[in-house]
Parts: sequence; structure tokens; C-alpha cells
Amino acid sequence: MTRVNRAWEEAQKHLVGGVNSPVRSFKSVGGDPIFMERGAGACLYDNQGKRYIDYCLSWGALLFGHADKTTIEAIRKQAAKGTTFGTATEYETALAVEIKKAFPDMEKIRFTSSGTEAVMSAIRLARGVVRKDRLVKFEGCYHGHADSLLVKAGSGLATLGSPDSEGVPADLARLTSVLPYNDSEAVVHFFKKIRGVACVIVEPVAGNMGVVPARKEFLDTLRRETKKNGALLIFDEVISGFRVGFGGAQHVYGIKPDLTILGKIIGGGLPVGAFGGSSSLMSALSPLGKVYQAGTLSGNPLSMVAGKSVLSRVSKATTEEMRKKTDSFLNEMRSIFKKKNVPVSIQSVGSMFTIFFSRKPVRNFQDSLESDQNAFKRFFHAMVRSGVYIPPSAFETYFVSSAHGAAEFQKTLNVVKKL
Ligand code: PMP
Repeated sequence: MTRVNRAWEEAQKHLVGGVNSPVRSFKSVGGDPIFMERGAGACLYDNQGKRYIDYCLSWGALLFGHADKTTIEAIRKQAAKGTTFGTATEYETALAVEIKKAFPDMEKIRFTSSGTEAVMSAIRLARGVVRKDRLVKFEGCYHGHADSLLVKAGSGLATLGSPDSEGVPADLARLTSVLPYNDSEAVVHFFKKIRGVACVIVEPVAGNMGVVPARKEFLDTLRRETKKNGALLIFDEVISGFRVGFGGAQHVYGIKPDLTILGKIIGGGLPVGAFGGSSSLMSALSPLGKVYQAGTLSGNPLSMVAGKSVLSRVSKATTEEMRKKTDSFLNEMRSIFKKKNVPVSIQSVGSMFTIFFSRKPVRNFQDSLESDQNAFKRFFHAMVRSGVYIPPSAFETYFVSSAHGAAEFQKTLNVVKKL
């Protein structure tokens, strides 16, 4: 038995399904998962020493690639001073200041340990402030695995073909309404019929049904209807945050949400999440207000210094440069598929992209489901065999880091040419 298989056998003896997050199990693409051992720049190395150019980048977390020297040095220095104190630290303020350079409307910020936690807390805050209970989300958007949001969620769950999760109380699920993405009419119609909405949460550039940008007019409708009906608008920018551009989708679209969720990149590869909004809104949160929220490892020094080391090196110029190189790489990719006569819709915003095996552009979750998933499975395995690692699901986003250069792009294009 090869070492990969042995690792998989062992993992399944001790971990549920051999993994700690379902999409890693390769259930939707088949075959055994690959066990990675280390990363460097644009590449991952598995436990047999095989090298892969990585377009998953820990699901978008690594803007500067794997084992980025400056980030590692910041973590090393901090680790020597202590990893967690459970007290106030200046590191938290320092990261908040960096975030506000890109997201000035997050006047006050609260850090958490994951995106899920940040979303869950932001929704509690919205419900506490608005004093209503209903939550609206959109098909194909994923906002983590809090009970109220596992109602027809996309991402891993869609991949597993199960729209809901068992264990979510029906009474709670009933408080969540799920509307089609990019459908303004459905939103207007909904608000005409339904009262009691605390908040609407949306990925302004969706990454969890593959990359699907919102239409400007759709986000404008959300802003207008929430305002009109006394509900809060929450932009979940856990993926789009520093990917679609400096300042996130809210800057690109010129729309100010009431609350913003961030994660991934802002922790430089260590566990983190954050939510924020205007000072007056955020002051409803404990210890100032009556909406309770807390966390032992929230704002822990390692995540804070790692995040600061990344964000202090990110600017409009950085994100713009990443967009440009992603665009030119994808243009070449498109012409290869065209020559091969394979219908694809390659969709990208900034440094995030998805190759949909679809004859038409993907505008919503239904379109994404209609893409050719068997073609994706074949593509995935062929890429991985040839040393290019992409996310193991047709409903995910591929990412480019600053460490991806001409050599990596050329090798990737050569692999696609030979498929
Ligand atoms: N929101 C979005 C848009 C996400 O993509 C994710 C995770 N991929 C989350 C929230 C949840 O974040 P976490 O996995 O850190 O809990």
C-alpha cells in the first residue's frame, strides 16, 4: 500500500470520515484524498514528495502563497513571546487598524476564530438591534455552518447533494428564507409579502457555487429594500474581501452594507474571522450593549500578527496586479479550451476564478448545478495527476497568490493543453 493510502486508512480509523471538513474527503470527485505535508510559495507537496501547483490556497486564505517568509517570521517572533493570553493586547488593535484602511465602514470590529462564528455573531447582533427574527439568504451562498444558515446551503453541502442538514431544528430553519441569487424581482416580491426581517446576508461576489458575481442592480435592490423595510444588509466578504480588490466587493460596487464579515486572508493562514460596522450598531454588542458574544481565542496574538503582516503589504496596487495576471492567465486558458472544443465558462473576479463545464455563463445556483459535473471530475483527476491541485468540487473557487508567476501559469496551461 502506498503511503497516501496508508495515511487515508489510518485517518479513517480516528477521524470522522478521515477528515475535519467534509469537502476534503473528495466525496464529490471520488478517489482517495491527497495528504499534504508542506507548502512553499505557489506549491504544495504531498506525503510522497510530489509537488503540485496549488490553486486552492487553503480555500483562498493565502494571498502571498504557502509559508510566506515574512508571515512566518512574524508568527515565529510572536510564538516566542506567547501564543495566547486571554487578555486585551495591542495586536488586536493593530490588525483592526489595517483592516479599516481597506474597509473604512467597519468603524468598529470584533474578531472571532472562524468565519462561521463571525456570521453567527453578526446575525445575533442584527436580530438584537432590529428586534426581529427573520433572516434572508440566497441559494448557493455559503456562510458557514451555523444552524440558521444550513438551510439549502451551497458549498460542501451542495456537493454532497443534501440541501439541508439533519440536526437543525425545523423551528429555527423556518426563520430563514432562501431566495434565488441575482434575482431582484424575487427580493422585491418577498419584501412585499413578508414582514419581520432582521437581516439579509449575501456573498456580494459568490464563491461557494463557483465564482458568480452579483449584478450591480441586484445588490442595489438589496440595499434599497432592506433600508425601506428596516432590515440590516450583511455582506459576507470572507472570500471576496481582499480578492475582488482592495476594499472588497463593497468598494468595487460602491454599496455600503450595514455589517461586513471577513475571514481567511485577514489571519494570514491562521484561524480568524471578523465582523464590523458603524460604531453605533456595533455598540449593541457586549460589553457595551446587550447582545452577548465572546471567545477564549478570539483575537489571539498569533492570528493577529500573521494577519497584520499580510495586510500591511496589501494595497490597491497589489490586488490590481493580481487581477491582471489572473486575467491574462485565464485568457490563455480560454483559448486552449476553445481549440479543444470543450465548452467552458471561465468566470473570474480579481484573483478568484472558476472553470465551469457549462455552455452558458453561470449566473445563479441553478446554472451552477446544471454544469457538467462528470466533466469536472475527469478534469480534477487529470489535473491532480499532472501536478496541479484545484479544489475537489465543481462548486468552488480557485485562487491565485502573489507567488504564482509565469512559470506556474505556463506549466498549468501545458497540462490543460495535453488533457
Ligand atoms: N462565509 C463564506 C463566504 C465562506 O466562504 C466561508 C467558508 N468557506 C465561511 C463564511 C465560513 O468560514 P469558516 O470556514 O472559517 O467558518
